Order: sequence, then C-alpha cells, then structure tokens
Amino acid sequence: MSNHHRVVILGTGPAGYTAAIYAARASLQPVIVEGSEPGGQLTLTTEVENFPGFSDGVQGPELMVAMRTQAERFGATFRTGLATSVNLSERPFRIVVDEKETLTADTLIIATGASAKMLGVPGEQEMIGRGVSTCATCDGFFFRNKKVLVVGGGDSAMEEATYLTHHAEKVTIVHRREEFRASKVMQDRARHNEKIDFVLNVTPLEMVSDGNKVTGLKVKSNETGEERVLEADGVFVAIGHRPNTDFLKGQVEVDKVGYIVTSGHSSATNVPGVFACGDVMDSHYRQAITAAGSGCKAAMDVEKFLEGSAVHDWSMSSAK
Ligand code: NAP
Repeated sequence: MSNHHRVVILGTGPAGYTAAIYAARASLQPVIVEGSEPGGQLTLTTEVENFPGFSDGVQGPELMVAMRTQAERFGATFRTGLATSVNLSERPFRIVVDEKETLTADTLIIATGASAKMLGVPGEQEMIGRGVSTCATCDGFFFRNKKVLVVGGGDSAMEEATYLTHHAEKVTIVHRREEFRASKVMQDRARHNEKIDFVLNVTPLEMVSDGNKVTGLKVKSNETGEERVLEADGVFVAIGHRPNTDFLKGQVEVDKVGYIVTSGHSSATNVPGVFACGDVMDSHYRQAITAAGSGCKAAMDVEKFLEGSAVHDWSMSSAK
C-alpha cells in the first residue's frame, strides 16, 4: 500500500471512527492510525446508557467494534501504531508512526482524545498495576471483597466508585474539597450506595505500599493539616483527563491546557487541511455522542477542503 493518502485520521474513539465512516462513504479511502488505546475510552467502560439508538444501553467495547466494522465496510483501512510526531509545516503533511514509518497525507484529522490524569504523588507510578489504577471497569475485578479508594469529585469518580461496589467490600471517595463537581444524579447514586463513604477536604500526599502492592494513601486534612493513611488494597485515580497532543509539538495551535483550538463551529485548526474532533479539542462536553458528531463534522470539512484545494498536485508529486 502506498504511504500517501488523501486523508489520514489519528485516533479510534467515537470521533475517529465517525470521521472514518463519513470519509470512507465520501470515497476518500481514509487510513486510520489506531493509537495506543484502540477504540478509545469507551473500551474502558461497561454499559453506555446515553448513546442514542440503544434503548436498553450498549456495552462500550461492543459499540466501538460496531463503529469500526461500519467504517471498514465503506473502505476505511486501519493501521496499528501510535503517531509519534508530525510535520504539518509543508505539504504533503508527514505523520511518523511508532517513530519509524512515515505516512504522507493531503489532509489530516486529529482525533487522539484524552488520557487519564495522575496525581503525581510519590509511589503512584511504581504502583500502577500493583494497586493503582485509572480504570475501574478494567481492574475492579481484582478487588473482589477488598477495600478501595477512588480519588476525585467529578462524574468519573462517582461512576468509578459506583461500579467498584459490584466487586469491592468498601469504596471510599477521597476528594480535595467539600463540594463535588459531579452532576447531581451521579452524586445521588453514590451517596445512596451503602458501600460508599467519603473522605473530603483532603490532599493526597503519597501512595503507601509494602514495597510490592498498595496498602493505602497518605492524605493531609486541608482544614487541620493533620496527616493520616487511608488504608486500602487499591487506589483508583479519577481526576480527569488531559488531551493527547504532546506529539504535535507546536505544529497546531492548542490552548493553555493543550486542547486543539478549532475555528468557530468548524473542525478547522489554524493549519489549512488539518482538522480536529472529539475530546482532543473539546474540554467541555466530552461525551461519546458529541465526539461522534464532531468526527462527522471533521470528515465533511475535509471533503469540502479537498474539493476546493489543489491537493491533487501534492498527492501526485508525493505518491510513493
Ligand atoms: P472533572 O469533571 O474534571 O473532575 C475531576 C475531579 O478531580 C474534580 O473533582 C477535581 O477536583 C479532582 N482533581 C483534579 N485534579 C486533582 C488533583 N491533582 N488532586 C486531587 N483531585 C483532583 O473530570 P471527570 O470526572 O473525569 O469528568 C470529565 C467530563 O466527563 C465531565 O464533563 C463529566 O460530566 C463527563 N463524564 C460523564 C460521565 C457520565 O455521564 N456517565 C461519566 C464520567 C465523566 P475539583 O473539583 O476540586 O477541581
């Protein structure tokens, strides 16, 4: 297969897959670079209850497989690997995959999503997979009848904690303030669950372990300054996500947090021919359905861009 493509899509969450479906149906034969987490964040969830069209809900991984199959049916091609750098300063654009293979493209859709944030406290990195986790649906099973902590005060923390009650004996939500930013419905669900309790207004200081696995989290009271260890077999970090834009390294305009800036209601970035969709450009809505909608917009923007630009010259001159 030639390494030059009319459209390359980076990322395989709802945004990337939807962009792939639309671009493939427009006969643009998109190539999709799967990324480090094929299927995106929905592969880490179980039941998705709010994706329209599934009156009884749908399993996240099942939904993503269906989207992928749908894209393939129209001619989209998938490449395993991670986009490690890009050169968008000249045409065709260059996308380096896994630091070795280079794809060239007339247009690029960036749908690389966002990844879980970590606390950054001592012991955290060392204990990942040994009691520290960012995914309750992936790892909850390992904490059957055990005590776990969930750090965070947003919807993710409430959702993770509620899910973990299916496995764990006790779940404690640990939050740095008294108030939660989680939606009322998610908060209520957690508050009414008798397996869940709360430790509020504390700052996490350190993952405590026996050298082999987590035994607790040291926290400091924001009120009194008192330090104590909350004993637990597992600590789930659910404090939000950061956009996966490090590999862009100044090639596209991003905001101060790293989310790609798009123009008005479109998916256009500041580089003509480069478009962005999904969580990598949306720090606000961050839903599967909004990501899918923006993926659709990106593919339509690409189609219009290709119709109105001289890309044929670039693709002919660069075809390998
Ligand atoms: P979020 O809303 O940004 O909440 C992050 C939480 O972590 C906040 O409570 C924050 O505390 C806390 N936090 C951040 N950094 C911290 C640190 N270094 N140490 C300790 N605590 C820290 O993130 P999210 O919960 O992942 O939700 C993201 C978006 O996805 C939201 O729009 C949410 O509605 C959506 N979502 C929806 C669902 C659903 O509907 N099923 C499920 C999950 C997520 P402060 O409050 O003090 O800032």
